[in-house]
Amino acid sequence: MRQPIMYISIISLVLLAACSFLASANGTTVSQEVKEYSEYDLDMKSEILEFEEYHITIHYPETPNTQINQTIIDYVNQIKSKFKQESYQAMQVMKSHSSHELHVDFEVLHESEQYFVIHFDETMDVGYPDISKSRTIMNFKKENGQRLETEDLFNQEVDYLQALADLTNEKLEEEFGKEINQNSFLEKATAPLPSNYQNVAINSGGVTIFFRDGVQPEEISLKMDNINEFLHPEITVVENEALHEATPSIEGLKSININGEDVKRPHGENKKIALTFDDGPHPQKTLDILEVLERYDAKGTFFMLGKRVSYYPETAQEVVTEGHEIGNHTWNHPCLTRLSKDEVVRQIQATKEIIQHVTGEETTRVRLPFGENLSAPYYGTMEIVPWDVSVETWRKENPRQIADTFISEINDGDIVLLHDLEGSTPEVLDMILASLSYEGYEFVTLSQLEEK
Ligand code: ZN
Repeated sequence: MRQPIMYISIISLVLLAACSFLASANGTTVSQEVKEYSEYDLDMKSEILEFEEYHITIHYPETPNTQINQTIIDYVNQIKSKFKQESYQAMQVMKSHSSHELHVDFEVLHESEQYFVIHFDETMDVGYPDISKSRTIMNFKKENGQRLETEDLFNQEVDYLQALADLTNEKLEEEFGKEINQNSFLEKATAPLPSNYQNVAINSGGVTIFFRDGVQPEEISLKMDNINEFLHPEITVVENEALHEATPSIEGLKSININGEDVKRPHGENKKIALTFDDGPHPQKTLDILEVLERYDAKGTFFMLGKRVSYYPETAQEVVTEGHEIGNHTWNHPCLTRLSKDEVVRQIQATKEIIQHVTGEETTRVRLPFGENLSAPYYGTMEIVPWDVSVETWRKENPRQIADTFISEINDGDIVLLHDLEGSTPEVLDMILASLSYEGYEFVTLSQLEEK
């Protein structure tokens, strides 16, 4: 499992220290009896698309189980087409030209020997005053990759919806007092209807019910003792068998201060350009890019997404080890224009913190998602880095054509935008560096470009 690796290892270090202390205190060896599960080695996939009419960012996990992956891909495709349809309709109604956005991120809620549970957070902004937010919970059986919807979790022979409604209301009262059940909004949201209980997640000690968006509290957990009799006979939730509950999220990281400097950028005299790579790290593409850079003795700056750094800490570390710089590209690539000030600050700070935690480097530069450069709301003091020329590998032209177009546009002192996630970047980069080295260009980090 990639994401929680460092957090788990910190905990195990503490445990190991405690064990060795105990062992020496007793004068005996403590044999650890840790149950071994085959935990998923997750990959984090990110699709980032920038068109004039809309922006799409979708992050989703890829597991070793192809059936699970197929269900997730189907979901991703479905939500994309739903968004495009709504975006098109809104455009007809509003005749507005503001750019629409689809943003989907995920969290692993629970993983045990039997189950794998993901939470997808969906935001759709098609220009209406209310931005639509929703969630999708997916419980999977690891054994066969089958998705378990609410009706698969519960015994069809009992009125499980009524049971869920009763238990939910009881729990709400227990946690928030009697007054909570006089809230008519909440009463509607907990009524025994299938639509109210679409998002039920298996957890280590029972289930968590997520209410529809806008309801407070957002979720409530029911213990195994209470729900056991209503569960489908094949569903077994063993207390405390979870491998982990939730992966590090932006909220989980403690805040730190941003201490950046505002640095002016003079154009260099010795034919220098600064290559920048956005949206990574990627476990393969970033390494391919590093290899090309090394061949031309080129240095670059990588604007990373905090969440991807938490999945691929080794790749982020490798970038630093090879002498390149790391910049901040937010936690999960939202359009900052729709976020509150607090959310924007958290996006930047959490990313800054994870980069520092993983690589020891303090980032002093930020690149805001979707070219919202100087106009986007940004409340920190880090240097916002725009770009002069972008290498448009997302255009499906052939690499030679993309490289040639770019080479004809480049000037001394330019900042160049490339993307780690995109397929042809290493190939195009190789062609560009071959031509420009020949013309006497040097490829430097942003710090080096700013020197002198
Ligand atoms: Zn980006």
